[in-house]
Amino acid sequence: MYKQAHYDEDFLIDYNTGSDYILDGEKCDLPENIKRKSLKLPNLRSFDVSRHYTKLSEMNYSVDIGMYPLGSCTMKYNPKYNDYIASMEIFTDVHPLDYEENIQGSLEIMYNLQEYLKLISGMDFVTLQPSAGAHGEFTGILIVRKYFEMRNELNHRNEIIIPDSAHGTNPASAAMVGFNVIEVPSDENGLINLDALESVVSDHTAAFMITNPNTLGIFDDNILKIAEIMHKNGALLYYDGANFNAILGITTPGIMGFDIVHFNLHKTFATPHGGGGPGSGPIAVKSFLKDFLPVPVISKKEEKYFLDYSIKNTIGKVSSYYGSFAILLRAYSYILKNGNDLRKNTEKAVLNSNYMAGQLRNYYNIPYKKLKKHEFVLSTENTGKRALDISKYILDFGIHSPTTYFPLIVKEAMMIEPTESSTKKEIDLYIEVMKRAASMDDETLKNSPVNTSVGRIDEVKAARNLILHW
Ligand SMILES: *Cc1c(COP(=O)(O)O)cnc(C)c1O
Repeated sequence: MYKQAHYDEDFLIDYNTGSDYILDGEKCDLPENIKRKSLKLPNLRSFDVSRHYTKLSEMNYSVDIGMYPLGSCTMKYNPKYNDYIASMEIFTDVHPLDYEENIQGSLEIMYNLQEYLKLISGMDFVTLQPSAGAHGEFTGILIVRKYFEMRNELNHRNEIIIPDSAHGTNPASAAMVGFNVIEVPSDENGLINLDALESVVSDHTAAFMITNPNTLGIFDDNILKIAEIMHKNGALLYYDGANFNAILGITTPGIMGFDIVHFNLHKTFATPHGGGGPGSGPIAVKSFLKDFLPVPVISKKEEKYFLDYSIKNTIGKVSSYYGSFAILLRAYSYILKNGNDLRKNTEKAVLNSNYMAGQLRNYYNIPYKKLKKHEFVLSTENTGKRALDISKYILDFGIHSPTTYFPLIVKEAMMIEPTESSTKKEIDLYIEVMKRAASMDDETLKNSPVNTSVGRIDEVKAARNLILHW
């Protein structure tokens, strides 16, 4: 008889009959109170089931229905061929514990993806293990810690500097690895305030974590100066790659002087994401940090690919097996399919964003003068309107809201990132709806949405009174 070690035998029960399982010839005595008395399954036509789930899916919104311009999240349209590739049996039938000689093809793909990511980031070594951007940050900061530990500097290098425009995962990752977080303010142009930075950098500084362009969509052209300040002080520079969609094929964090980079493959490299996954957040490092990468990485020797555990001072393993393989496949197929057009995608993403910003300039505040890249932030501050109400109102037109109330340094913020995959027609509709929202009366705004399957919810109650199952 078949037996699985991790089941608690007391609770095994035959779902059809309600009777006890017989394991290894022994009958388990189930307590009466947990025995099923009857099994009530609804008696439905398959037709009814199909209609029920189709109706549910229609209550939802997704990139398959329309544009999803959530700033910072890079919700581009995900071409179906990537899903097709990832669902091929030659990949889904691979077992992660199979012998290396049987999975040479999968290893080759991962190896090649590592090579592409090196090229794209201008870095020297890559691990594909982390399962999200935040997980990549955590892994990267573990490497920072290991680097200073090996140099016997960890006692005093206990601070990580992070700008006030940063994504919340940055300080969270730094704190989880045990560093103190020091916040540095942005200047009147939305850039890193260099004087403020110099005043907080010291021999306590382990690293500075930034994304460039930042969460305002502004490229910080002081980046080489920033890298110099950090390196002069013996600290490292960490690149949050969530905004890669603004630089892919044009410049690299390597050129900008960064030491560690994470990618959000599920953002820049077209994988469906949201609702907590699935994701993939590889990291890349300059060669002086290669000895700290998590094991294994995929290496190649005499035309054979293998899982390389020979990394000297590795931080260990950060993921089960070798990362989110199905997401790696999608990223690989996306890169191969686009080839040299990756740069064109970037240019189009920046153009789309600037076109939208230009059209909405007279209807909303756009803080900070400097040119925006692939995303921009609107604000309703001083207009008497709330960003939340605008975001709810536009849902009635079958379009998705922008990222609302982020970044934190802009009051009443709405952050828009159209990506390269929105058409002009879609963008123009979005602009029209946003213009209409700007002049809508307060009563209508406060009561919207009215056409969605769920109306205005009580946000405070939803946050305070969590009901996570029913
Ligand atoms: C999305 C995002 C992250 C975190 O990435 P996840 O993949 O969601 O964990 C970090 N920084 C910025 C700027 C982001 O937009």
